[in-house]
Amino acid sequence: MMDGNSLPETRSTCPYCGVGCGVLLRPDGDGLAVRGDPEHPANFGKLCSKGAALGETVGLEHRLLAPKMDGAEVGWDSALQRVAERFSRAIEEHGPDSVAFYVSGQLLTEDYYVANKLMKGFIGSANIDTNSRLCMASSVAGHKRAFGSDTVPGTYEDLDEADLVVLVGSNLAWCHPVLYRRLMAARKTRGTRIVVIDPRRTASCDGADMHLALQPGSDVALFNRLLVTLYEGGALDKAFIAHTNGFDEALHAAQNDTAAPTGLTETEIRAFCDLWMRTEKVVTIYSQGVNQSSSGSDKVNAILNCHLATGRIGRPGMGPLSVTGQPNAMGGREVGGLANMLACHLDLENADHRAAVRGFWESSPLPETPGLKAVDMFRAVGDGRIKALWVIHTNPAVSMPEADAVCDAIAACPFTVVSDITARTDTARLADVLLPATAWGEKDGTVTNSDRTISRQRAVLAAPGQARPDWDILADVGRRMGFDKAFDYASPAEIFREYAALSGLAGQFGRDFDISGFADISDQGYARFQPQRWPVTTTRKGGRFFADGRFFHPDGRARMVAVSWKPPASKKSPRFPFRLNTGRVRDQWHTMTRTALSPRLSGHLAEPFVDMHPEDAARRNIAASDLVQLVSPTGKCILRARITPAVQIGQLFAPMHWTAETAPSARIDTLVAAETDPVSGQPESKASVVDATRFDAAWYGFAVSSDPMTLDCAYWALARTSRGYRAELAGDRPVDDWEAEARRLFSAPEAEACSIIDAKRGSARVALYRDGILAHALFVAPRPVAVMRDYLADMPGTEAANALSGRPPADMPDPGPVLCSCFGVGVNTIVDAIGTKGLMTVESIGEVLAAGTNCGSCRPEIAELLKMVHSREAAE
Ligand code: SF4
Repeated sequence: MMDGNSLPETRSTCPYCGVGCGVLLRPDGDGLAVRGDPEHPANFGKLCSKGAALGETVGLEHRLLAPKMDGAEVGWDSALQRVAERFSRAIEEHGPDSVAFYVSGQLLTEDYYVANKLMKGFIGSANIDTNSRLCMASSVAGHKRAFGSDTVPGTYEDLDEADLVVLVGSNLAWCHPVLYRRLMAARKTRGTRIVVIDPRRTASCDGADMHLALQPGSDVALFNRLLVTLYEGGALDKAFIAHTNGFDEALHAAQNDTAAPTGLTETEIRAFCDLWMRTEKVVTIYSQGVNQSSSGSDKVNAILNCHLATGRIGRPGMGPLSVTGQPNAMGGREVGGLANMLACHLDLENADHRAAVRGFWESSPLPETPGLKAVDMFRAVGDGRIKALWVIHTNPAVSMPEADAVCDAIAACPFTVVSDITARTDTARLADVLLPATAWGEKDGTVTNSDRTISRQRAVLAAPGQARPDWDILADVGRRMGFDKAFDYASPAEIFREYAALSGLAGQFGRDFDISGFADISDQGYARFQPQRWPVTTTRKGGRFFADGRFFHPDGRARMVAVSWKPPASKKSPRFPFRLNTGRVRDQWHTMTRTALSPRLSGHLAEPFVDMHPEDAARRNIAASDLVQLVSPTGKCILRARITPAVQIGQLFAPMHWTAETAPSARIDTLVAAETDPVSGQPESKASVVDATRFDAAWYGFAVSSDPMTLDCAYWALARTSRGYRAELAGDRPVDDWEAEARRLFSAPEAEACSIIDAKRGSARVALYRDGILAHALFVAPRPVAVMRDYLADMPGTEAANALSGRPPADMPDPGPVLCSCFGVGVNTIVDAIGTKGLMTVESIGEVLAAGTNCGSCRPEIAELLKMVHSREAAE
């Protein structure tokens, strides 16, 4: 019998972010052993904390294993027949635009291709949009305006060769950690200068030479100022500008914009512009801080204008680089997953392109106009125009702006289908039909990362229960709707060949996306497929675009777009005086459907929070660890306060991961207004207006348990631990009997109880034991509870005789919240080692504690701790 270690490793790709790291997978009995693929060009063996914990998230906990209709399990035949009939009936009665697909960057390219072909080619509507609309639609729009196509000019290798890297609206250290480490390695060997442009001080600032904390939304003004400086400083490349149109207009608009407010000092602006001007090899990386804006497309074009005007594009070590949030956001763009695009970067509004695709697919006429983009799609669901909706691998009831309204809209939709790996999402709970799809480790297909590298995702685990691949589910519905021949697919390899052949047609129209070199790939070739950057044709493999001055507009030239600064769409007012920025944390992904299953990832930041500047906190009488109520024109949230100068006065930051499953009062997108960029349709997720006040609860609590808990108080936030669960709680009504409340909370009416209740002070500590072993414990106080949380989280399942003390014995120090997820090293352990051992560098901490020596995602936070401890010592 083979043991786990003798099984061969399978090459695949991490499913979390657009870096697209290669992984080597080996089933190990409980789950998967995962390591970075040393040969993958995106990561050369490195993984971040999320990628390294992938093996902990492939269990069957919470998996949807059979189709369901109206809550009852049914067979595939009944479920798919109902889907096909309801979609066909809606089309027949109300026309093709009465149905919609809302899909996801989690889909593999083959899944995406089939979904797009079904909607645009055979249903005859363009109402298919993807959650990538929330992520990088502004980059797509900016690229198309400037280049004539959605082309990413550069590659990751440019980071190794650049002398200056500018991060705009990108916390690369947390959101694309392996790319950040690559940049840090280049900085060490080459001395790469780094500038971070972000209203907030993030982990990415720790390794930077300059942090420009501009006002939200003022990026256009800053890059317009740069364009003017380049012009006045004689740094333009006139020969390259000859390959563009619109330079004079763009410069004129920039010159008229120099007084626009950025919030930066003249010295800061000059220092940045001078550094950019005198450094030829400059890469500008931009991400959600640029894209998620009501002027996102203009921000992208303001950046591209500077690169085009200097010819710093498409040559080694220079160019703009948009980094995407999802593993296959790029694949979705290429395959036409957005409502305004056709497959293979062909244009929906171009009659010749439509005719060519129609001929290739042998389909009905294709829609001539774009379909509904995400925000408009859910508005149409809400006002009854959409009669049948299919949501695939995404959670719009949490992730869309004005999430409460989106929730209500989906609930009221006459027919909603959800394909997912779990029924426990806020959206899946609203579905009429639930379809069990295969998950990451069970799926076969391809993905494209942020630098155009196509990689294989390979199935290494058997599909559990009745789960099926998405391409197979979609094709089955297509056949049941009467399109047998077009959806008669037997494998993802067959779909990939068809897609590659279609891209050859696009190549004949002079489009950039051409992978016709794979049109005849055999099943074996597809199985052995190695990562390759597109284009792949008989004459070309990969490389960069645009250094030769040839672009994809009909005249072959690029276009510089005249852009002017505009403030964020929502206006601050005395009623809503704060601007709210939303974003990600290091160890969570999207709405936590996978990462929350990992105790070590959940240990990094176990609770939703809002960052507030100390001066604002003092004015509002809010202390660290208080609960804060945020109110916007569209919703309300309660979050834990973190008081920090990392955010500016008048600004707040809150993460977007928590849901009704994990912290129902922290669904942050309920606060976000559905204001969109007029060109890209991307919502402005980083500049909503809110008010913030202290939430005075009747009581505050902390609970640990080996079993799930029944939580229904005003505020709760649940997280996994290696011993079960931990929860933060707060209630708005007094409780008379805390022992009875604990038994109810933990569903343990018979457990042996040990409690200390101080009714006068309003505090209670209740421990419940099963056969002498601690099963649950609850700590309650009239103010936020002060107990050693990380120590207590490890107590369930042990005898824990002193659990009620809430703190460890003297010989067992509390490690504090996990900072290094790979080695489980806590904040207190690191602070203690810095102090007692006199450690001065991140490297020396790694030598002593191993922290930061594996994936390296925590190194910026370790550097921050070092700074904090040493500045505290210096002040003493
Ligand atoms: Fe996965 Fe991390 Fe690599 Fe992104 S950087 S692909 S999350 S391992």
